[in-house]
Amino acid sequence: MPQIYSQKDVNKKALAKARIAILGYGSQGRAHALNLKDSGYDVVVGVRKSGESFAKAKKDGLEVAEPTEAVKNADLIAFLTPDLTQKDLYKDVIGNIKQGATILFAHGFNIHFKQIKPRKDLNVVLIAPKGPGGLVRRQYQQGRGVPSLLAVYQDVNKQAKAIALAYADGIGGTRGGVLTTTFAEETETDLFGEQAVLCGGATELVVKGFETLVEAGYQPEVAYYECLHELKLIVDLLHEGGLTKMHQFISETAKYGDLTRGPRVVNKSTKKEMKKILTEIQDGKFARQWIAENKGGRKKYNKMMKADFNHKIEKVGAKLRERMPWLQEEKA
Ligand code: NDP
Ligand code: MG
Ligand code: MG
Repeated sequence: MPQIYSQKDVNKKALAKARIAILGYGSQGRAHALNLKDSGYDVVVGVRKSGESFAKAKKDGLEVAEPTEAVKNADLIAFLTPDLTQKDLYKDVIGNIKQGATILFAHGFNIHFKQIKPRKDLNVVLIAPKGPGGLVRRQYQQGRGVPSLLAVYQDVNKQAKAIALAYADGIGGTRGGVLTTTFAEETETDLFGEQAVLCGGATELVVKGFETLVEAGYQPEVAYYECLHELKLIVDLLHEGGLTKMHQFISETAKYGDLTRGPRVVNKSTKKEMKKILTEIQDGKFARQWIAENKGGRKKYNKMMKADFNHKIEKVGAKLRERMPWLQEEKA
């Protein structure tokens, strides 16, 4: 088992009295900024005046400035805007970042795929919470923490790792455990996970199951409950206690169906495709494609997104969820 750091491993001096600029105030940015402020750090949020985040961060009681201003005199600058905006943002702010500062990422995309070639005098680190920002904030407030990955790309003062660990501690990550990795490992596994399993794989499984039942003449509402709504129960059991706990809570019949039918749905050819997807991540094909799509105005991306939103499962789901307003309380 690799070493997993906890609160006792943190050298609080590494970030003592540090001024931290958080660039971006979305999912991760808001959670990091508020958690770090509550942990006693001097936090400034860097967002454009024209956007919605500016007023939002102010309303949350934080110091706010344009990114180029926010980075001035900051000891640590966290890049927490969408991945494909960070290259331009880095160009905008780099002239104002002081010598020897630390820049931090929550995902390794831009460093690993060489979109940002960081100045040589900077520490370059990664703290990637393994969960969405809403959860990073909520768990911190509950005295818990989302496990996080730590990586160092450039270490100019032999303090980079200690600084990153102190930052992880400031957002609550050390309560859940901090595991060291490399920018390459974090980037490639994160992309693979979201493509093949968490986002791409899981939603496609749900939608294809729903379609199969509806096309066979079953009520869409019943298909929705079965293929989407109930998934949470299974995922919670997996999350809490792995395959063992999941199996303890499902019926004998469900277990037999799982063991004999599951491998027919996700089969050898699925795994072969997963390996292909991983290769496209590793050789940079996925990154090149996504960067080109973004540059070309996201035409395909927008079209596919619209098709997802217009799917029958969404129409049926929206109606059924209206009856369960409490579902909105757990928003991540
Ligand atoms: P968001 O999409 O939530 O970021 C939105 C924020 O970025 C807003 O404050 C927005 O400001 C600002 N922003 C958007 N476009 C620009 C731009 N062109 N220039 C300057 N600011 C801009 O980002 P996430 O939190 O999802 O992701 C941030 C980083 O964290 C990424 O590297 C991501 O991979 C990583 N990460 C994300 C996770 C997640 O759960 N979302 C999980 C783990 C890592 P405005 O209001 O002005 O538009
Ligand atoms: Mg990701
Ligand atoms: Mg999908």
